[in-house]
Amino acid sequence: MKTSELRARFLDYFAHRGHRVVASSSVVGPADDPTVMWTNAGMVQFKDLFLGKEKRDYTRAASSQKCLRAGGKHNDLDQVGFTARHHTFFEMLGNFSFGDYFKADAIRFAWELVTGPVEQGFLGLDPSRLWVTVFEGAEGIPADTEAEEMWAAAGVPRDRIMRFGKKDNFWQMGDTGPCGPCSEMHYDRGPQFPGDDLPNGEGDRVMEIWNLVFMQYERDAKGVLTPLPRPSIDTGMGLERVASILQGVDSNYEIDLFRPIFDAIWKRAKVDAGQRAETSNRTASQVIADHIRAATFMIFDGVVPSNEGRGYVLRKIIRRALRFGRKLGIEGRFFADLAPSVFVAMGDAYPELEGELNRIMKVLSREEGQFSLTLTTGLKQLESLDVSGGSIPGAEIFKLYDTFGFPVDLVEDWCRERGLVCDLEGFNDELRQQKAKSRAAMKVHDIRLGGDLGALADLRATVFQGYEATEGMGKIL
Ligand code: ATP
Ligand code: MG
Ligand code: MG
Ligand code: MG
Repeated sequence: MKTSELRARFLDYFAHRGHRVVASSSVVGPADDPTVMWTNAGMVQFKDLFLGKEKRDYTRAASSQKCLRAGGKHNDLDQVGFTARHHTFFEMLGNFSFGDYFKADAIRFAWELVTGPVEQGFLGLDPSRLWVTVFEGAEGIPADTEAEEMWAAAGVPRDRIMRFGKKDNFWQMGDTGPCGPCSEMHYDRGPQFPGDDLPNGEGDRVMEIWNLVFMQYERDAKGVLTPLPRPSIDTGMGLERVASILQGVDSNYEIDLFRPIFDAIWKRAKVDAGQRAETSNRTASQVIADHIRAATFMIFDGVVPSNEGRGYVLRKIIRRALRFGRKLGIEGRFFADLAPSVFVAMGDAYPELEGELNRIMKVLSREEGQFSLTLTTGLKQLESLDVSGGSIPGAEIFKLYDTFGFPVDLVEDWCRERGLVCDLEGFNDELRQQKAKSRAAMKVHDIRLGGDLGALADLRATVFQGYEATEGMGKIL
């Protein structure tokens, strides 16, 4: 089943059950909520409906939401490229009830849609591969035995329902406000996949596909939970993850949607077909494929590269992609040229991208041009280091960063590929020392401004260094 077909089936299923299909909102978090940098879930655009601050002419909705998890509360950047299932940019399918139906219906809908026969418009996943989780309870909050009974009633064998704690199965909007237990659906891809014991979530065997949140309590400032008179439903299903199951492929990156993007990458890469399968090259291409989608949609939604906030995340993503491009032997401008492939891949769902491609490519191209020399110099310097000791000392990382403006996270990636230790602590020590030095220099500067103006010239160099450290790539950290 094509990814676009999955998206359509999900939305149709809920449209036929009284849900309003609502278009995705921007990847940029809501202007009135500084705590949310990016839209990281489908519920973000409905927050005020859940809080009862806003009323609309519908009480059930469904959407396929553009999401970003890079910086802010959810940050999957480190996993991206290394796991089969994490992206910085992805689409979250969701159904929502604003004080309308609750747990029993949400569970029934989810199980029917996921396991119902493909010929009848459902997704047809094999129930013997599925697991569901429910909240086991915690101090002062009861276990969600209701959900357990409802999953069983929907047809899930009891021995496939597992109980988990607060970390995985309890959701809250903030320290106060709506909260409640959640239930997740997981899919077992089989024993040929690495298990959960790998670091950084690199084990992809059992993959979470759908999270159902039951907003049934309100938490007050004292932490006391009161049942909501009209509880709500918020769910999120990973489009690319479910597509990978439906298409029988081993990773999100192998689904149909990504094909035009990888075609465009391999066309530029200087590695032959055999080398493409090597893990480090595959990782590099996956990072680039992920990051061009993220960057394209970020710029589409109005973000421009800068040294702070959202613009800084965009800059970091672009620079990371450029570095991985070098890994594939790509010199010169290439990243901007990948943007049209995102339109080829996703234009059916996001036709509005087409008219903005030129602008998007210009922004990317400018950023590429600016960073190119830094990247070349920094990488050359890195290659020349003696790494026989198995690590890169903090002082060297600091030199790269301070002299060339070379981003520290790129050094980290570089070390990760080679199994080297990246001495971040040492780097931070150096950074602190330099900051202290420049603060001291600033002080002298201030005092002398009132007195000995002649001494200023000597201080310039030091003061200027301080300025570079805070305004330059320092924020790459
Ligand atoms: P995981 O435990 O796998 O990191 P999560 O618990 O952080 O996922 P939720 O916040 O529950 O994810 O989001 C709802 C759904 O969105 C998940 O069940 C998953 O299918 C999908 N999803 C979450 N993060 C990503 C991501 N980085 N890339 C692709 N899909 C994702
Ligand atoms: Mg996660
Ligand atoms: Mg999870
Ligand atoms: Mg989850």
